[in-house]
Amino acid sequence: MHADLLRALVIDAADLEPAPPWAPYRGTSTARIDSSRPCASRGQRARATRVIDVPGLGPRWLDTCHPHFLAATRLLPSRMLSTVEGIVADLREAAREAGADLTIVTDDGAAG
Ligand SMILES: [Zn+2]
Repeated sequence: MHADLLRALVIDAADLEPAPPWAPYRGTSTARIDSSRPCASRGQRARATRVIDVPGLGPRWLDTCHPHFLAATRLLPSRMLSTVEGIVADLREAAREAGADLTIVTDDGAAG
């Protein structure tokens, strides 16, 4: 998934800086892009950053200008879906183990 994203944005994963193995606080990301870092794709000033998991390399910072942030977001929607589906599956499993009835409601309606 992230390999496809990097290929689409013409980014060499080896050029990306290693990121911490934990999810960075929002303030960490804000401070990172306030320091005039270039976009990983084309070298314009980065306006956003996110951590991506690169197979074989681990978590890496993906600093992007606004157009490449939007492009990356468009290329990653199924990841968000799989994350939500995974959370719902975990909740269902926990409810089943606890013998509890469970109704999950998401922003776009009941997940079941
Ligand atoms: Zn860019």
